Amino acid sequence: MGILPFVAELGLVDHHCHGVLRTDSTRPEFESLLLEADGVSPLGGSFFDSAVGFAVRRWCAPLLDLPRHASADEYLERRNSLHIAEVSRTFLMASGIHTFLVDGGFQPDRLLSAAELAGLGGGVAHEVVRLEVLAESLRESSPSEFLDAVRSRLASTSAVGAKSVAAYRIGLGLPGVRPADADVERAVGSWSSGRLENPVVITWLAWEALDAGLPLQFHVGYGDSDIDLHRCDPSLLTPFLRATASLGVPVLLLHNYPFHRQAGYLAQVFPHVFCDLGLATHGLGHQASRVFAEALEIVPYGKFLFSSDAFALPELYYLGALLFRQALSDFLADGLRRDAFVEEDAHRIARLVASENAARVYEL
Ligand SMILES: [Zn+2]
Repeated sequence: MGILPFVAELGLVDHHCHGVLRTDSTRPEFESLLLEADGVSPLGGSFFDSAVGFAVRRWCAPLLDLPRHASADEYLERRNSLHIAEVSRTFLMASGIHTFLVDGGFQPDRLLSAAELAGLGGGVAHEVVRLEVLAESLRESSPSEFLDAVRSRLASTSAVGAKSVAAYRIGLGLPGVRPADADVERAVGSWSSGRLENPVVITWLAWEALDAGLPLQFHVGYGDSDIDLHRCDPSLLTPFLRATASLGVPVLLLHNYPFHRQAGYLAQVFPHVFCDLGLATHGLGHQASRVFAEALEIVPYGKFLFSSDAFALPELYYLGALLFRQALSDFLADGLRRDAFVEEDAHRIARLVASENAARVYEL
């Protein structure tokens, strides 16, 4: 099915993404970056035989002047014959994303910075500060200095938001009570290894971000193999969301799959909560429209945002945007066919989800 013209032309704000690789990729590296696995399984076959793998061959190949459905080998051979910056520019420009909100806290050495990314993509970049990485960079301070240092960094940051990866470290069962400074100091004092996994400190960081007025993103749902998926259900955040609602600072639930319905519920009932379907949109390939429609079942349209969650491969920006457009278009076309709303409403919903919700939430 074609994409409705007004959806095809939408400019997008990508409210959660990462940088792209500075270098070409070998086939094993490219395959492992298509999915969340650490590497390709010798028992399980190629990752090109997946929804996103087929989407690369179908949709990305033509942008490199190959026929649709070119083989994986042909695709990578052509890709590696071009300069990687040229490949990245091609896919970033074709995505139609004009504003990138970049989480630069994961593997920054391998990836282009936010400014470099925006330069290639012809857009604007804003940074999102990853709370656990910020805390780890300040761990050498004494406990009381640590609290002050985090507070002053959050107060003076140029970032437009903060991100918590509590899901990866402790799961999403954050308590609904703000930790006392004395308890945080004690926890910092007993934090010995480099990686922050202390629940008191991680919870405190989330409160501090909100106190600083920074919209707070949470990783939710699936991701790399070091998460325990059952601890990444956003409904575990309910006590925290209930306790922080009165602060009035936005909380954004990222990715959410396969808990996208739970996320939609939370975004419906808590005034400060918003959600997206990043990562899953490209991961679902040709099935994106079906799950996208599930994600939008009960969420008010003013509370759902576009994101690609693209990481490392520029193809993922393009696919994230393209499959989002396709899914949004299918959703709106279905609503129009059923006379659920009129054309003018469909245009308005599209603009909200594509960019206006993000502009309002992050005050862009
Ligand atoms: Zn991400």
